[in-house]
Amino acid sequence: MASRCCLRQLLYRGLSATTTQLVRGSLSRTLVLSSHRRIPEFSSFISRTNTCGELCSSHLDQEVTLCGWIQYRRQNIFLVLRDFHGLVQVIIPQDESSAAVKKILCEAPLESVVKVSGTVISRPPGQENPKMPTGEIEIKVKTAELLNACKKLPFEMKDFVKKTETLRLQYRYLDLRSSQMQYNLRLRSEVVMKMREYLCNLHGFVDIETPTLFKRTPGGAKEFLVPSREPGKFYSLPQSPQQFKQLLMVGGLDRYFQVARCYRDEGSKPDRQPEFTQIDIEMSFVDQMGIQSLIEGLLHYSWPSGKDPVVIPFPSMTYAEALSSYGTDKPDIRFGMKIVDVSNVFRETEIRFFQDVLSKPQGTVKAICVPEGVKYFKRKDIESIKQFAADQFNQDVLPIFLKASKNWNSPVAKLIAENQRWELIRLMEIQEEDIVLLTAGEYKKTCSLLGKLRLQCADLLETKGVVLRDPAQFSFLWVVDFPLFLPKEESPTELESAHHPFTAPHPSDIHLLYTEPEKVRSQHYDLVLNGNEIGGGSIRIHDAQLQRYILATLLKEDVKLLSHLLQALDYGAPPHGGIALGLDRLMCLITGAPSIRDVIAFPKSFRGHDLMSSAPDSVPPEELRPYHIQVSWPEAEKDSLKQSYQQRS
Ligand code: ASP
Repeated sequence: MASRCCLRQLLYRGLSATTTQLVRGSLSRTLVLSSHRRIPEFSSFISRTNTCGELCSSHLDQEVTLCGWIQYRRQNIFLVLRDFHGLVQVIIPQDESSAAVKKILCEAPLESVVKVSGTVISRPPGQENPKMPTGEIEIKVKTAELLNACKKLPFEMKDFVKKTETLRLQYRYLDLRSSQMQYNLRLRSEVVMKMREYLCNLHGFVDIETPTLFKRTPGGAKEFLVPSREPGKFYSLPQSPQQFKQLLMVGGLDRYFQVARCYRDEGSKPDRQPEFTQIDIEMSFVDQMGIQSLIEGLLHYSWPSGKDPVVIPFPSMTYAEALSSYGTDKPDIRFGMKIVDVSNVFRETEIRFFQDVLSKPQGTVKAICVPEGVKYFKRKDIESIKQFAADQFNQDVLPIFLKASKNWNSPVAKLIAENQRWELIRLMEIQEEDIVLLTAGEYKKTCSLLGKLRLQCADLLETKGVVLRDPAQFSFLWVVDFPLFLPKEESPTELESAHHPFTAPHPSDIHLLYTEPEKVRSQHYDLVLNGNEIGGGSIRIHDAQLQRYILATLLKEDVKLLSHLLQALDYGAPPHGGIALGLDRLMCLITGAPSIRDVIAFPKSFRGHDLMSSAPDSVPPEELRPYHIQVSWPEAEKDSLKQSYQQRS
């Protein structure tokens, strides 16, 4: 068993400098903390006695058996063996009687997997390696067994050797040997374990699996279809266990949770995967505050202890405030540069364009102030900001440079009167050397443009060395009071659910459902972390009649698809609500990984492919026949398909 004194050390051995820092701070302490309950036994049930990384001076003179990969070899005398815990130096015996052991250890290619037995000895004085956690000792080998030789690798395994992501995904099983992937996946497992503990052991939740072969759900994300053997009939892979978790509430399982796999056929987006994992939760007899407190407690409890702590309760902001001050429903509140409405400053303006905009019902003039922008931004930075606004929003941005000489340097400076200047300075707390970016247009579009520019300016300032967002800081935020409906993007006169169609309206707005549904707020809440949406949920409609009205009359959905749910609501459904946390995104933010693919063992590529196995793959026509399916191939692909079958057979 790993001795308690070494646990802290053994957890970060063999990791690269950066990872070591991360691990020292978090994974080790998490495990040490949980070790108050039970120290994990890393070598039970198998023939090794210890892990490579755990060995230290307290093991001196012990006979050990280790299994691991050959990391490197020096002068056919030293060999470094690696396992998930770290590295240990093995001395290759040089005497005649150990010729067989020497042959195995000297001839096995790097990354071969071997088993060695020997004695833990001190390194000779002066040969200790303080940079290596096992650097005080080495193994004097007596026996060695080559468990499997390694062929020539597609890339060098060393952490510092850069590999393209394509290559990493193609050989994911090798990439997983890296200290970073080991750290990410092990930390993920730790966090999930603590979540289970919190939910099941401390709060009586029940872990229930729900089907992944289901039927189409109206509204929401696009679903993957799975053919069935009945002609023309398909299953759908659920975008979330939403219906099942509500039905579990009707079934009296009043505290449900699941580490749930969800599927959305939404094409490629940098922080999305076609299949992803949610911590899915539902509770009966709960209100919004109850769910929020549960999640704050859950994250606080399961947070890796080496990371900056989670401060609870989380602050809360309405959707309206998020949009007007940050231009987005997922504001990053780690820094200022908030959007300020300056419409009133320009009610009496000479600027023609502002006059036109302000005469329209949704017209607004808004601005952000970039602190010390004059010092950091070049002409070309401003040009690219203007270009972005023109290309993406068809909107003009007017920059004002506040020079130290108190000069207002701007194409519109002449048209801004003295009193308007003072008013702007007061409203926006402008200082010398700041840049103000002014824009005018329709309310939502203007907020959204400035929200994007706020983030772009933050990125730009950071590339110039200004520290705005501390990457170690975790800044959670609840966004609440969303509208129940939003205009459909492709047909703005129609409505779609802002969250999903099962979300309950805000109690004080229910009357508006029948008159001005677009004004109804909902009991939907999102959880945002450092500007990323990491969760969302709502209190649900538990009244069948209201649910039917929203689906059929307001959303124009086919209620037949949901008849089972509507029926269930009629049979004594309790009031209920829930939430789902996106586990991949959460872990990505906790670990600071550049992509969610780095916290998933076998992710899909940006285009939704598994580069290791080449999924999705083509299927011969005879295998499609039982499903009554025929592929209509684009002309250009017919030949290449034929070829790929010929190659296989
Ligand atoms: N099922 C919802 C989602 O995946 C979350 C919820 O409302 O609980 O977004």
